[in-house]
Amino acid sequence: MRLELKLALIGAISKIVIFILLFVLMQQFIDNQALNHTDRDLVKMKDKTISIVEKIGINSFLNIERDSVYASYNMLKDEYISIDIDPSKGGDKLVFSNEAREIEDEDFDYRILNYRFEIKGQHYVLEIGKSVQLINSLNKMIQNISISIILLVLLMTIMVDIGINKYLLTPLNKMIIGKLKTITDPESFDFSALNSSTSDFVSLNNALNELMYKVSTILKNQQRFTANVSHELFTPISVMQSKLENLLLSNDLPEHFIANILDQQEHLNRLQQIIKALLLIARIENDQFAKDDSLNLKQLIEEIILNIEDRAQMRNISIENNIPSEQVLGRVNKSLVYILLFNLISNAIKYNKDNGKIQVSCFNDDLNFCLEISDSGIGIDKDQISTIFDRFKRAGPLAGEGYGLGLSIVKSIVLFHQGDIKVRSEPGIKTTFTVHFPLKDVNEFHSA
Ligand code: ADP
Repeated sequence: MRLELKLALIGAISKIVIFILLFVLMQQFIDNQALNHTDRDLVKMKDKTISIVEKIGINSFLNIERDSVYASYNMLKDEYISIDIDPSKGGDKLVFSNEAREIEDEDFDYRILNYRFEIKGQHYVLEIGKSVQLINSLNKMIQNISISIILLVLLMTIMVDIGINKYLLTPLNKMIIGKLKTITDPESFDFSALNSSTSDFVSLNNALNELMYKVSTILKNQQRFTANVSHELFTPISVMQSKLENLLLSNDLPEHFIANILDQQEHLNRLQQIIKALLLIARIENDQFAKDDSLNLKQLIEEIILNIEDRAQMRNISIENNIPSEQVLGRVNKSLVYILLFNLISNAIKYNKDNGKIQVSCFNDDLNFCLEISDSGIGIDKDQISTIFDRFKRAGPLAGEGYGLGLSIVKSIVLFHQGDIKVRSEPGIKTTFTVHFPLKDVNEFHSA
């Protein structure tokens, strides 16, 4: 998961948890506030009623001789007031309770204030009620408003967080990840400094630059060393070869001596092939080739097939060239592309089964022109796939036959063209090598 998404998720989850807690606490707070508010209202109503009673006299409300009760309620029965003679004659003066009351044969739940008072030695009880349903509906409205506000604030903070994360991680995404994603070899690494106010990113970028600089220096030294050693060995080996050839021309050589010379020649030949391959890799890695050819791919493959046909025919292996006849590859080195395809097709024959099949085809993906060489051969074991491009790595039953440098040459040619190579294999069934050339180059050539 990307760091940006992870930060956004963690931020959102922690905020949701905090807001749920806040919502629960707020719920309780609103309930308490609503109750206090209702009770204060009831007390105000009580004070008002008592002052009216004191002003106009209790007899205006009830007649003691006739044992009457005063009761008043509004049309929706949300509120009611009653005054009655207090039979208990005293007790707690002011009591609040939640009780049901029957008005006109209907039961209602009320928050009730009970107030006992005395006028001229007579005890009365005043009861004022407010409908619980009314209080709850008010509560619900406040709750809905608070939920909406909380959700809005939650959404806004999450959005702000995502924006801030994006802004803070821009240098990391653009510079460091951008640099790493496009890296094909240490020499083409973008060593530019990072323009950011976040010191951690600047340190990371500097460390990365330093590391890549070291890797690139080591690689350059290694390439130079290989090139020098190969070059120094090539001349004496060629001299030895010609000396052995001259020796063979002598007429009076004993049989076992000739066999010995032929054996030495074979060894020298093998050594020469290896040095040639190493020199080629060193020259490719040191950019000693131009890259300004354009070639017709189908024709080039036909040429390779022609040169290699007899090897395929000996084992009845068919080679299908499915490249469109108009397909052109631009900005390449023709000789190197020839070697690249020759090695892949040659391997496809070498590691195929008798009566097998080889198919060469191409397609475009988003960024690359892809060339596929597929064979119905012996395949490559899963644990060996990651190392087959390494120098002198040979695998499988025919390992003794080659030098283990064919695919190393292929890889260096692909990298030289800023491309990539992938291999898929089902052991015993088939192997497919896919070479990716940057589509930009192929297209640029077409439009040129
Ligand atoms: P070699 O000289 O051994 O062919 P390469 O570098 O060309 O050296 O190949 C390295 C190894 O990769 C080979 O030894 C072989 O095991 C494996 N290999 C390469 N191409 C194929 C293929 N088409 N099918 C199966 N195995 C392959």
